[in-house]
Amino acid sequence: MLPEKKGLHMSKKRDRELGMERPIARRDFLQGAAIGTVAAAAGGLPPALAAAAAQEKLAQNDPGYYPPTRLGMRGSHPGSFEGAHEVRDGDFWNHAEGVEDTGESFDLVIAGGGISGLSAAHFYLQAKPKAKILIIENHDDFGGHAKRNEFHVDGRTLLMNGGTMGIESPYPYSKVADGVLKHLGVYPTQLSKQCDDPAIYDSRGLKQAVFFDKETFGTDRLVTGGGSPYAHHERPALEAFLAKTPLSEAVRRSVVMIESGAVDPLPGLSSDEKKDRLSRLSYQDYLLQMLKADPGIVLYYRHYTDDLWGCGIDAISAIDCWGVGLPGFQGLKLKPGATDRMGYTPAGFAATGGSYTFHYPDGNASIARLLVRDLIPGVLTGRNATDIVTAKADYSKLDRPGARVRIRLNNVVVRVRNLGDPKSARGVEVAYTPAKGGGKVYRVRAKECVLASWNMMIPYLCPELPAEQKKALHELVKTPLVYTSVAIRNWQSFAKLGIRAVQAPGGYHSQFRLNAPVNIGAYESPHSPDEPMLVYMLRTPAKPGLSEREQHKAGRYDLLSTTFETFERNIRDQLGRTLADGGFDPARDIAGIAVNRWPHGYAPEYNALVDGNTPREKMPNLIGRQRFGRIAIANSDSGMAAYTDVAMNQAWRAVHELLES
Ligand SMILES: Cc1cc2nc3c(=O)[nH]c(=O)nc-3n(C[C@H](O)[C@H](O)[C@H](O)COP(=O)(O)OP(=O)(O)OC[C@H]3O[C@@H](n4cnc5c(N)ncnc54)[C@H](O)[C@@H]3O)c2cc1C
Repeated sequence: MLPEKKGLHMSKKRDRELGMERPIARRDFLQGAAIGTVAAAAGGLPPALAAAAAQEKLAQNDPGYYPPTRLGMRGSHPGSFEGAHEVRDGDFWNHAEGVEDTGESFDLVIAGGGISGLSAAHFYLQAKPKAKILIIENHDDFGGHAKRNEFHVDGRTLLMNGGTMGIESPYPYSKVADGVLKHLGVYPTQLSKQCDDPAIYDSRGLKQAVFFDKETFGTDRLVTGGGSPYAHHERPALEAFLAKTPLSEAVRRSVVMIESGAVDPLPGLSSDEKKDRLSRLSYQDYLLQMLKADPGIVLYYRHYTDDLWGCGIDAISAIDCWGVGLPGFQGLKLKPGATDRMGYTPAGFAATGGSYTFHYPDGNASIARLLVRDLIPGVLTGRNATDIVTAKADYSKLDRPGARVRIRLNNVVVRVRNLGDPKSARGVEVAYTPAKGGGKVYRVRAKECVLASWNMMIPYLCPELPAEQKKALHELVKTPLVYTSVAIRNWQSFAKLGIRAVQAPGGYHSQFRLNAPVNIGAYESPHSPDEPMLVYMLRTPAKPGLSEREQHKAGRYDLLSTTFETFERNIRDQLGRTLADGGFDPARDIAGIAVNRWPHGYAPEYNALVDGNTPREKMPNLIGRQRFGRIAIANSDSGMAAYTDVAMNQAWRAVHELLES
């Protein structure tokens, strides 16, 4: 057999072993079906356009329209971003058909149906209870990053967050954000006491583990007992763990020095002087240059910053890593707080936050659902903050003529302009088009508009903005990342191996874990290892060696060009190899996959390495979020922090800028 034929044969065989050809819940059948059900023609348009227009308006009204159960490529799913990219690429208006006036008029139009957009509607109605509001959202679901993944496996409903996991923040919730939670009946401290159920794993003694893969470390080996970036490991336990790893002697000594040593690499400097030095170098450089660790530690620690920043330790400042409690700083004996140079406490200082911590089984999608239930009666059943988890949703009620609030999914806002001079304008015109691109453009009018959408795209929507503001908005580059949810038929393999979570320094996903258990209302997390379970996996496509925001731009490109098939093959391979000794068979045990791809994920945050000495008033979010006539700007981007409370706070600010101007 020719070598290339042999390679093909081997990879086909491997695909069969992995179960690539097995029928599981992964492809987006529903979406495909909806595209086939073209509704009746709208009057006055050529038949093809009328059909397309009617279909776009009505997709969410189709019987059975329920995006949380769609699997395969989710997050920024196919069909959600192509229209926006046509606008970005500059030739949209050359090809766009004449703009069709829908004849609709609102008090407020909101671009973006994430937590910020939904909160903006809530705040506006507080001030103007009779207002009519339209929310336009490019995804097939509301909630933005607060996304619900819903699986049905062997008769059981399983929920997971496809994005935002929890009610938590580096800072205590503001009165405004707390007010939203209270209005919705959400009391996180109480819910956490009633509903969190760590005993499921604790009682079985399930531990953290690290998987060393042969491509990176020369051998496939799962080692339990280590790999928790924020846990303090006592020296004997750490040494026992390291002895089982394939790491070299030199790397092991360095890991012990970093994690349990008390080295002060900056003796003689004050705490403030030390912090200033830490704000000028990356965590990687701190470990290598200041602590003089063996270079081999990079492969072991490189993903320790993935979950908070979406990129590796080479692009995040040492002071930020100290702030969140990563190892290696004990000997410096630093006093709490940021440095003067940073101007304010960055969001990364989570350890000092004192915020709530609670998560719903579907993450903050429950907050989005609660907001929608409050804004548009009849969309969701139920009446309290616990029954929301299993509440039934009727998406056909989201956009009903005459309703106080309407949510129009699958459409992207492509232009917003003041009607007349921004200083004296009395209204705005908002144009939108089908999110999947290639469609007709529609126009509605409103007294005012909140752009609760991704800030870096706003210059394309509002080319009339001042140049300095557009430049600042473009700088608000979001973090690309992937939250993958995998349904497995049982979790016997985890129980047999005694593990609940795995760090994978060389893995396609850099960590994975069993779903965090919560029992709330009628929803029960799986208890027995014989029951189906969801596994959360994290992948960050950043490109080491560049600055953080350049890594994110490169990562976004990589993410958008990666097929679902590539993800699926890697997921199967990674879970199969890691859990092999527990008897896991990816072909048999995987029941469904949702890859929540977020090319525009976390809002950008202050990074001492990039933002250095920039005075607070010059930060891009402050310049970028200025009100422009009757158009105000919200979204977590405008608060430069990727947290739910920030999205709410920014919505409040934007709404009040309009109301008070
Ligand atoms: C993977 C992930 C995990 C997270 N985990 C947490 C967590 O555990 N706790 C926490 O507090 N925060 C978390 N965050 C951050 C949190 O999700 C956000 O701060 C918050 O939900 C953002 O809400 P938002 O409305 O500002 O933005 P988004 O949720 O991004 O919503 C904006 C919406 O606007 C839409 N949009 C964009 N452009 C247009 C347009 N032109 N027209 C129409 N619509 C448009 C977008 O598609 C999107 O749906 C996480 C974020 C991500 C990505």
